Amino acid sequence: MPTTLTLPGKTALVTGGAGGIGAAVATALAARGTNIVLADLGGTGLDRTASSLPAGQVLAIPADVTDAAAMHDVVSAAVERFGRLDIVFANAGIAADPPSTARTMPPSVFERVVEVDLLGVWRTVQPALEHVIASRGHILITASAYAFVNGMVNSPYAASKAAVEQLGRALRAELAPHGASAGVLYPGWVATPIADSAFGGDPLITAFKDHAYKGPLRKAITPERVAAAVVPGIERRAPRIIVPRRWLPLSMLRGIVNPLVDRALERDHTLHRLVHQLEAQRTTQSRTRVL
Ligand code: NAD
Repeated sequence: MPTTLTLPGKTALVTGGAGGIGAAVATALAARGTNIVLADLGGTGLDRTASSLPAGQVLAIPADVTDAAAMHDVVSAAVERFGRLDIVFANAGIAADPPSTARTMPPSVFERVVEVDLLGVWRTVQPALEHVIASRGHILITASAYAFVNGMVNSPYAASKAAVEQLGRALRAELAPHGASAGVLYPGWVATPIADSAFGGDPLITAFKDHAYKGPLRKAITPERVAAAVVPGIERRAPRIIVPRRWLPLSMLRGIVNPLVDRALERDHTLHRLVHQLEAQRTTQSRTRVL
């Protein structure tokens, strides 16, 4: 495979491109001369982001990533409009809002999160594969630090992020013989609506976060900071982009750290109390939805 990917004149499909990380990456790629195909659920966010990009360089398409036929159409429209598809940033995602234990989460909510965060990624990547191979391009999948930390009270999200990490790794190996590449993005906390829902205003969930994630690990960064790592990462076809870098040691040492953390969580009486309180609250409220 060519060692680097030059961005000017290339075409990138960005899902979840209406706001947050997707919009920041689309903006940064467009500034480097890349044509952008923005796909997101329809709405003002999609229009706003599209109109902030250079008119001749952007195509905005309302589409649900869980709809396989719609994602085939998005890929066809991208190739028709710009003549090629080089980069796929499979980034759209949701979390259960509010977070709950698997025991108290409505099954429909659990399954919708997996549908968007795992199958939505697959349904974004699958129709684009031949085009990315033809252009010797790059696929970047947004996972999360949740791919390797314990996912308690966000289990469908964490399960999906671990799954798409595996998809990205397998794709990298499978695309190499064709001269194309794939990588995985692991953001830590980023100040966007999904982070608000995963660890937002609920005082009990805030208590979970404060107890489980110490100091700098729970400090949110901006989507622009993620974009500043993603763009050079795509250019050099990085297998992994971890941002902020303070999550790197945990990622590297996960085989040693995770069994120790899981054991500590299992024995942590503060967390036991928080789980009981959360389950009591969810059972009376029965109001978990997806954001
Ligand atoms: P966000 O909520 O701003 O962006 C998510 C985007 O995905 C939204 O524009 C939303 O409309 C879109 N989307 C949701 N469901 C969709 C669907 N079915 N079809 C098409 N689009 C859909 O949050 P974000 O932080 O920018 O999230 C982007 C990605 O980054 C997600 O995959 C998220 O899991 C991941 N991530 C975020 C954080 C964080 O702390 N914010 C951390 C790690 C990973």
